[in-house]
Amino acid sequence: MATLRVAAKPASAPMKVAQISKPGGDFEIVEREIPEPDPGQVRIKVQACGVCHSDVLTKEGYWPGIQYPRIPGHEVAGIVDEVGAGVSAWKKGQRVGVGWHGGQDNTCRECRRGDFRNCQNVKICGISYDGGYQQYMVAPVEALVAIPDSLSDTEAAPLLCAGITTYNSLRHSGALPGDLVAVVGIGGLGHLGIQFANKFGYRVAAIGRGSENASLAKKLGASVYIDSQSTNAAQALQKLGGAQVILATAPSSKVMSELIDGLGPNGKLMVVGATFDPIEVTPIQLITGSRTIQGWAAGTPADSEDTLRFAELSGVRPMIETYPLEKAGEAYARMMSGKAQFRVVLTM
Ligand SMILES: [Zn+2]
Ligand SMILES: [Zn+2]
Repeated sequence: MATLRVAAKPASAPMKVAQISKPGGDFEIVEREIPEPDPGQVRIKVQACGVCHSDVLTKEGYWPGIQYPRIPGHEVAGIVDEVGAGVSAWKKGQRVGVGWHGGQDNTCRECRRGDFRNCQNVKICGISYDGGYQQYMVAPVEALVAIPDSLSDTEAAPLLCAGITTYNSLRHSGALPGDLVAVVGIGGLGHLGIQFANKFGYRVAAIGRGSENASLAKKLGASVYIDSQSTNAAQALQKLGGAQVILATAPSSKVMSELIDGLGPNGKLMVVGATFDPIEVTPIQLITGSRTIQGWAAGTPADSEDTLRFAELSGVRPMIETYPLEKAGEAYARMMSGKAQFRVVLTM
């Protein structure tokens, strides 16, 4: 009788992940099997992942339809470790990232118009599928961003949400070189927004609470610092001629509401700090001076590559604090405290 031979299955190795198992739950460090990429996906050995304020959506369950347990993280930098069937454009060993835009269906009306950012079935990394708070993750190829060699993993990661959001919103804001652009909030997004605005040739007014960030804001490229605790910031902007664009990165609807009167003629409030409270504005405030309010969400992986290339070219870099993956809860609390200088990044 022939010996029964069972094909030896390679013992699948476990990896560490930081997951949320229910809305409002704490971070749990657990072991999972290393995932295999499906067709059209790659597996990424994660090297670094930024901690973004929007991770609150996964942590607290604010995004409708999240399935738990879920691993947050949409500022992922790593190395392609395995490719799924049908993947030819990305190679093992290649440095890649994944940002907020985690994929699109390529078939809806917006995708057929090339507007992938507004895909009706857009996937968000760390919300629609497990993100970068883990040692290995899988991602669809349309979410991948090539990372240039000159940027380290911890430098590249924050540029994939905080960076692209400020870079991409500013470059589409309509402000021209020499225009007065105010950046509100000197935090994870704001400290990058000031640098990009400076490199774009704007006259940059940084708006923060208290005087302690004044010298840093100027070092980052602001020509004016406005302390909103001791000054009426809208009036201060009007004294400078009125802002062409106010980039509102601080997640405070109250602050945004108070700044609308700081806009100049045809000025635009560009909203990127995500909150659930209403912005208060009267029609008269908008009609007078033809002002507009616009929201902006990150961008596509191609926009992320533009962001990384521009950072490489111009020297824009995030300032970071790093934490090991095992301290994901501590890292998240640090980000939420608003005291981080300025972006918190997990390393694997
Ligand atoms: Zn983000
Ligand atoms: Zn679509």
